[in-house]
Amino acid sequence: MKTHASTYLIVGGGVAADAAIRAICERETDADIVLLSDESSLPYHRPALCKDLITDPNQTIASVIKDSEPYESNVRSYLGRRAIRLEPESSSVVDSQGDIHRYKKLLLATGGSPLELPDHSEQLLTYRNLSDYKRLEEKIAMGHRVAVIGDGFIGSEIAASLSERNCEPFMIFPHDHLASNRYPESLSRHLDDVYCSHKIDLLPGQRVTGIESSGDFLVVVTDGGGRYAADFAIAGMGIKPNVDLARQAGLVVKDGIRVNAQLQSSHPNIYAAGDNASAYRKELDRYERLEHEMNAIEMGQAAGRAMTGDRSISFDYTPLFYSDFFDLGFEAIGDIDSSLDIVEDWQDDLNQGVVYYLYQNNVRGVLLWNIFGKTDEARALMQNGPVTHPTSLKQKITA
Ligand SMILES: Cc1cc2nc3c(=O)[nH]c(=O)nc-3n(C[C@H](O)[C@H](O)[C@H](O)COP(=O)(O)OP(=O)(O)OC[C@H]3O[C@@H](n4cnc5c(N)ncnc54)[C@H](O)[C@@H]3O)c2cc1C
Repeated sequence: MKTHASTYLIVGGGVAADAAIRAICERETDADIVLLSDESSLPYHRPALCKDLITDPNQTIASVIKDSEPYESNVRSYLGRRAIRLEPESSSVVDSQGDIHRYKKLLLATGGSPLELPDHSEQLLTYRNLSDYKRLEEKIAMGHRVAVIGDGFIGSEIAASLSERNCEPFMIFPHDHLASNRYPESLSRHLDDVYCSHKIDLLPGQRVTGIESSGDFLVVVTDGGGRYAADFAIAGMGIKPNVDLARQAGLVVKDGIRVNAQLQSSHPNIYAAGDNASAYRKELDRYERLEHEMNAIEMGQAAGRAMTGDRSISFDYTPLFYSDFFDLGFEAIGDIDSSLDIVEDWQDDLNQGVVYYLYQNNVRGVLLWNIFGKTDEARALMQNGPVTHPTSLKQKITA
């Protein structure tokens, strides 16, 4: 057992951690920083795991390791070690090898872990990190009929990517049409057609309840009594935030670790950023935990600066998020939720346009379908207050 001391201890090895480290180094070139991550590599660009890394033979694992630029020598990395206990009274963290890491300021950037099925989870490939990607590649080499569970961002992207790899994915999801919990019905039906045209079978309106082994293949069982054979199954059923350390240490956790505008948790020397943290968002007028890359980067940067004593930090906004599949893509901001009132402004059939999501005539979210670089305009509409006539939103944002 060893004891290590640092000024800044960063627990977690994702983009929030990376952004915080680089922000600290920008303000204090010789800052004494320790990165403690249970992954075996330095932070990398996680979205590539279900996009380019699967579809583009020129992409390699090395190419997704975030910014090939290594950290300066003042950043010491302890990889492959999990933080297992946080003791705020002694400003220390104990890792899975029994070492103690003392800090002056701590950032919890522990992200989230995939949700799993209650039983038979070992049969199911969940998808979050480079090890999962390596397992997926092994599975692709062994079989091609793939059950993709869930029509969230990850399920939708993985199914699209696998269809470009000698695989026959089929998707099982609870909604009537693809992602109809997020998109207006017109767009969801259009997506059904797009996926079918890529030979991806869709099995809507069903929830997977278990997975059974059957010789060389699996059987995916659903609540409607469906039984579907596959060579392997991959899940995109959402994540749960990694908040155990924070909870055990007595920090305030409400869905995520609750942070203020300086990204401080309920303990002033402990900060949190990324998928595990819940911050106030002025556009939504509520605390919200987001699970998107730009949010993690921006929160990480702000946390890093605040940890160095930058008093100008006042983080209270909602960063954009994005997704890409086939030759489609979008940027979005706020609540993308089809239970809200919806104004559709299609500018090129269903190939390009803007979808506005409103609650009591206030814009709560904007989906920019195949339109890029317009999220500031969307944010302004969300901050403008109620609109008199929702249809007046049409043509407010154009390609
Ligand atoms: C396959 C995939 C595709 C995605 N695509 C998109 C996309 O297209 N657009 C988008 O906006 N977002 C996308 N996301 C989401 C985006 O990647 C996340 O929002 C972002 O990675 C969150 O960053 P983070 O640093 O908060 O957490 P993470 O990236 O989850 O990093 C957390 C790190 O902490 C480590 N850790 C956890 N607990 C401990 C502990 N106790 N001790 C030590 N280390 C610990 C984890 O192993 C991990 O290294 C995607 C995610 C995945 C998995």
